Amino acid sequence: MISGTREWAVAEINCNIGCPHDCRYCYARVAALKKGLIDSGSDWSRTRIIEAEVESSRPLYGGQVMFPTAHDIVEDNLDEALQVVSRLLEAGNKVLIVSKPSRCCIKEICDRFSRQRSQILFRFTITSRNSDILSFWEPGAPAYQERLESLQQAFKSGFQTSVSIEPMLDLEDVQGMIGEIEPYVSHSIWIGKLNRIEERVQIVTPEVAAEVERIRHQQQDRNIIDLYEALNERPLVRWKESIKLVVGLPLATESGLDI
Ligand code: SF4
Repeated sequence: MISGTREWAVAEINCNIGCPHDCRYCYARVAALKKGLIDSGSDWSRTRIIEAEVESSRPLYGGQVMFPTAHDIVEDNLDEALQVVSRLLEAGNKVLIVSKPSRCCIKEICDRFSRQRSQILFRFTITSRNSDILSFWEPGAPAYQERLESLQQAFKSGFQTSVSIEPMLDLEDVQGMIGEIEPYVSHSIWIGKLNRIEERVQIVTPEVAAEVERIRHQQQDRNIIDLYEALNERPLVRWKESIKLVVGLPLATESGLDI
C-alpha cells in the first residue's frame, strides 16, 4: 500500500536530526528514538546537522523528490538546506519542499531559486487556524498568520504552491480555512487524519488526553464522510490515504504520483 510521504514522492531527503517545532504527533521523533538517533524525546528539539547528507551529490531520481521529510527547514539549518536543494535541482530533479514555514526561510528559498522555480513545488503544512490548537500540538512551529504569509509570498513569487492539512487538527474549521488559503494555492490542498495516535502521541496529562479525545471524536467516519461530500467537488482538494480508506476511494498504486 502506498501511504504517507510515498503518496507524494519517490525519494525522501533529509539533512539533520531533530526539529525545534516539537510537534506532539511527530512521527520522525518516534523513528529517531527507535533507531537510537536520540536518547529521549526531549532531545528532539535540538537541530544536529548530518554533514554527509549536506555534502552528498544527488542523482536524478525517477520522480518527485521530497525534502525534508523528517525535520523542517528552520534558521538553524537554512544554509545546509539551501545546499541540499541546490544539488537536487542541479541534478534536474523536481523537488517538493514541505514545511511549516517561517517567513524568513521561505523568502530566502524564493530569492535563491527564483530561476529554477519551475522545478520546485512548495507544500506548507497548515493544520489549523486556531492559535490555541496550534500552540498545543505544534509548540515550536510558526503561527497560522506566518504560515499564511509564507504561502502568499511563495505564490506571489511565481512558485507552485500547495498545502497539507495533515494532520487535520480542527475538522470543524477546515472548510473555512480552505476558503482563506485557496486563492494562494496553485497545485493542491491535501487533507488527512491524525494517524497512529497511540504510537505517536504521549498521553502524559489529562489535557493531552482531552485533546486526543477531541480529535478522535472529530475524525469519526461519519464526520470524515460529511467533509468529503462537502469538499470533493473542489478542484484543488486531494485526499490522503487515511481518508480514502474511509470514503472508499482507490489507493495510489505507485509512489510519487501526488494525485
Ligand atoms: S515539523 Fe515535522 S519533523 Fe518537525 S516536529 Fe513537527 S512533525 Fe516532527
